[in-house]
Order: sequence, then C-alpha cells, then structure tokens
Amino acid sequence: MNKKEIAVIGAGIVGLSTAYYLQKAGCQVILIDKQDPGTGTSRGHASMIANYGVPGINQPQVWQQLPRYLFSKSSPIAIQWSKIGKMTPWLIQFLKNCNTASMEKTASHTSYLLKSALSNYQELLKEVGAQNLLTHRGVLYVWIDPRQQPNSSQINIRSESGVEQIKLSGEEIRELEPNLSDQIQGGWHFPKAHHTLDPDLILEKLYQNFLSRGGQFQKEEVSAIHPRRGFNSNQ
Ligand SMILES: Cc1cc2nc3c(=O)[nH]c(=O)nc-3n(C[C@H](O)[C@H](O)[C@H](O)COP(=O)(O)OP(=O)(O)OC[C@H]3O[C@@H](n4cnc5c(N)ncnc54)[C@H](O)[C@@H]3O)c2cc1C
Repeated sequence: MNKKEIAVIGAGIVGLSTAYYLQKAGCQVILIDKQDPGTGTSRGHASMIANYGVPGINQPQVWQQLPRYLFSKSSPIAIQWSKIGKMTPWLIQFLKNCNTASMEKTASHTSYLLKSALSNYQELLKEVGAQNLLTHRGVLYVWIDPRQQPNSSQINIRSESGVEQIKLSGEEIRELEPNLSDQIQGGWHFPKAHHTLDPDLILEKLYQNFLSRGGQFQKEEVSAIHPRRGFNSNQ
C-alpha cells in the first residue's frame, strides 16, 4: 500500500512535532519552510513547559494596561509602529477577545492541551535521545508592586484545571531563591513546571530524526494553498 503523502508548512516546534507523529502513523512527510528548520520563534523562547499557562493572555485587564503596554519603556511588548497597519486586524480581534467569557473559553481548550504537554515532550525527547534536555525545577512568578499579582479569576482558572500553585510572601520567595531582591513582595510558585535546557538543540535533534525516517525538507515560502478539485480527504 502507498504511504499517505503529507506536507507540513513551518519547521518550528509545531511543524517538527506534527511531522514526528505523522511519520509515526506511517505517512511520508515533506516539511516546507521559507527559512532553515528550527530558526523561528521556537529557538528563542522562555523554554517553559508551562502547565500554569492556562489563563492565556487575552485577559480583561489588558484594556486597563493597554496605555502602559503601548507607551512605557518597560513594557513587556514592543510594537514596530511601521507595521501597525498590517497588525491592526489581528489586534482588533485580540482586544475583542480580552473579556472574561473569551478568556474562560480559551482557558478550557488550553487546559486540555497542557494536560498532555509534559508527557508528549517526554516521549518526543526520549525518541530523539534528548531526555537530558528536560529539567524539573518549577517556576516562580514574583512581583514588586502588588498590582502586578494575578487576579482571582486567573487563580481560579488554574485551580479548576488542577494546576498546583502556592502563594508565597517575599521572605518565603527569598528562602527559595536567596539572590532575589528585597524589593520583591510576593509571588506564586508553580512546583510542577518543567523547562527545557536548549531549545535549539532539541529542534536540531527533532529535525535529524525527521530526516532519518525518510522525511524531506523544502526551503520555500508558501504563498497560497489551493484545494484540489475532487479531493477526498479519506484518500
Ligand atoms: C519571548 C517568547 C517567550 C516564549 N516562551 C514560551 C515558553 O516559555 N513556553 C512555551 O510553551 N511557549 C513560549 N513561547 C511561545 C512559543 O515560542 C511558540 O508558541 C512556539 O515557538 C511556536 O512554534 P511554531 O513552530 O508555531 O513557530 P515557529 O518556530 O516560529 O515556526 C514557524 C515556522 O513557519 C515558517 N513560516 C511561516 N510562514 C511561512 C510561509 N508562508 N511559508 C513557509 N514557511 C513559513 C517560519 O519561517 C517558521 O520557521 C514564547 C514566545 C515568545 C515570543
């Protein structure tokens, strides 16, 4: 029987993981990326397997924080104003979803995905001989100004999703991390969080595994996808 041929667009962690599971299911996979594999966002992130990330970022308080986000020098986001026109449709959709109902809806889906994230990573990393690149030390979210602490809906969403979270005072934080500043007034500890030690190397190992299973890579920008006439998705 002929193998199913499937093209995956984007060779970051999402594309490489998708390709891994498709190959495992017996498909012939071609990965397409306009850049070299593993050179996008997936190589330069915070490396957390963030089981606590259930509430997402579409939170109602974004509306109050927006002026500071847009204009403060210490803002966690940076906007390239020359690209604001292109970004506006996305930004409008994002802001429309910064409300409690949308946040809870997003959280229910994220929670489902996050429940298997760690075990899926463990499987993937074992497969490519990179188990030693996953470590378990938990994570601390700390604040200097009490206004920066998570609100009750974020805390409740995490509890409802079964995320272990412990509220700590400034002193308790410094007992865990003595080098942290005296200015820190409190924080949350997420003891079950894991992180990876070298995202770049993980991507490289996943890519080599992909090639060793007969996968092909094509360096090309995809500009359009045209459905084939009479295509039957069961074929
Ligand atoms: C600062 C920062 C910190 C983060 N920290 C964390 C964290 O701690 N934990 C966590 O889970 N997530 C974190 N994230 C999110 C995480 O990095 C992303 O969700 C993840 O990397 C997305 O993977 P990806 O494969 O979709 O994207 P990418 O790695 O960007 O891959 C997408 C690929 O698609 C290619 N591509 C795009 N368009 C085309 C086209 N038209 N034709 C061909 N190729 C195309 C690109 O070249 C790119 O290589 C963080 C993100 C940022 C920015």
